[in-house]
Amino acid sequence: PVRVRFAPSPTGPLHSGGVRTALYNYLFARKHGGQMLLRIEDTDQARYVPGAEAYILEALAWLDITIDEGPNVGGPHAPYRQSERKDIYREYAEKLVFEGKAYYAFDTPEELDAMRKRLEEAKVPAAQYNAITRMQMTNSLTMPVDEIKARLESGEPYVIRMRVQPKDDIRFNDLIRGWVVVHSSQIDDKVLLKSDGMPTYHLANIVDDHLMGITHVIRGEEWLPSAPMHVLLYKYLGWADTMPQFAHLPLLLKPDGNGKLSKRDADLGGFPIFPLEWTDPKTGEKALGFREQGYYPEATANFLALLGWNPGTEQELFTMPELIEAFSFERVHKAGAKFDIQKANWFNQQYLKEKDDATMAAQIQPLFAEKGIQISDPQAIQIVHLLKDRVHFVKDIVNESAFLFSAPEQYDADIVAKKWNAEAKQGIGTFADALQGYEGSFLADDIKHVLAQTLEATGIKMGKVMQALRLAITGVGAGPDLMVTMEILGKAEVVRRLRRAVE
Ligand code: GLU
Repeated sequence: PVRVRFAPSPTGPLHSGGVRTALYNYLFARKHGGQMLLRIEDTDQARYVPGAEAYILEALAWLDITIDEGPNVGGPHAPYRQSERKDIYREYAEKLVFEGKAYYAFDTPEELDAMRKRLEEAKVPAAQYNAITRMQMTNSLTMPVDEIKARLESGEPYVIRMRVQPKDDIRFNDLIRGWVVVHSSQIDDKVLLKSDGMPTYHLANIVDDHLMGITHVIRGEEWLPSAPMHVLLYKYLGWADTMPQFAHLPLLLKPDGNGKLSKRDADLGGFPIFPLEWTDPKTGEKALGFREQGYYPEATANFLALLGWNPGTEQELFTMPELIEAFSFERVHKAGAKFDIQKANWFNQQYLKEKDDATMAAQIQPLFAEKGIQISDPQAIQIVHLLKDRVHFVKDIVNESAFLFSAPEQYDADIVAKKWNAEAKQGIGTFADALQGYEGSFLADDIKHVLAQTLEATGIKMGKVMQALRLAITGVGAGPDLMVTMEILGKAEVVRRLRRAVE
């Protein structure tokens, strides 16, 4: 059975990349009738952010990503928080030392610094603690057994390092990237157990994936460089034949493809799912997340799914069950996925169009109230109806409908130059007169009828007047259905605006 995990570190809010990782795990698990675990990787206490775990749960719930095992729901492999599994990891680290696959290192920070300097001076590209350098350092491979014992017994701080063998090729078949081969000289003798007794990410991650029966490790490409080391750890721990398969997901890039989308790019979509005491580094303002900006969770899941994966068809709109059905690693790309916020907005618009008017009407009323504008239920519905096809977010309806509440103070100069002429003015003037004397119902169709009749009587073509008419009513050259706009404004206001324009 497929068993996957989302293994975030509770270090801050989730951004699109992290959420996409969770989503792909979820899609893959559901597609194969497997299980999805949530594991909280909180062994780095310096980076721990209070509230981040609750945040992760809330974000997953918002997106409708359900978890089968995890700190919130329990499960056969509990606890699912690494800080609560501390003792498990030490046992494996010590086992590796016992078998000669790892060793104690007592180096002080000063000694490590000095090594780094030596390597820099010798122009060794990446500073490494490895088969060559370790021989000059203070570790259990370079000292007699008695000394090791004495140091351990005296309580001297130490770490446990993995003993990477030289001249080894490490290879694994990534589900997305194919065969990856790395020579062991590229790999550091990574710390497995830190001096505070906590495991490093690497050790805890491998031990837990093994104990929790994980079959597929699906995570961001930033972990690809660690993967060979993880493969080696599986081998050292004797778990090579049950090693999970790896799938490293493509990076999310800025829209121009130039570099990784980071949280510094809030304006480009680098904002979180929702804020967690998170401020936009560019503006210093507390940034809004996808949720606060009015993205629907279904739309968010839909566009995130398509960042790095394609269904092989033209289809763009997917419900969660459809995504589950369609998802496969064969269609996950190797190349980074450009995050296009315009496209994200387009997705939201598609979902917004399908929402029911009454719900949206109830959402815009308080937004109007904030601006000191009270609108009735029927008015709210009319406004939603007028603008819903033209906006990306519910809140845009409020911003886009300012012209309903105040007559234009100026007229778009461009349209004036092109469309405002004697004929248009005459048409608008007579239309105003006709409306003034008109006593029938004032619905869009009625208004259109009056307009058509008036123009016919004066012999002016509809096409010569329409844009000027829009200009008179709204001040600009483009906007939503003009007849419905006039219906919402009501006869008196329409006549007032027309007269002012032709004055
Ligand atoms: N704790 C790691 C993270 O925060 C997990 C990486 C992995 O999935 O192996 O991304």
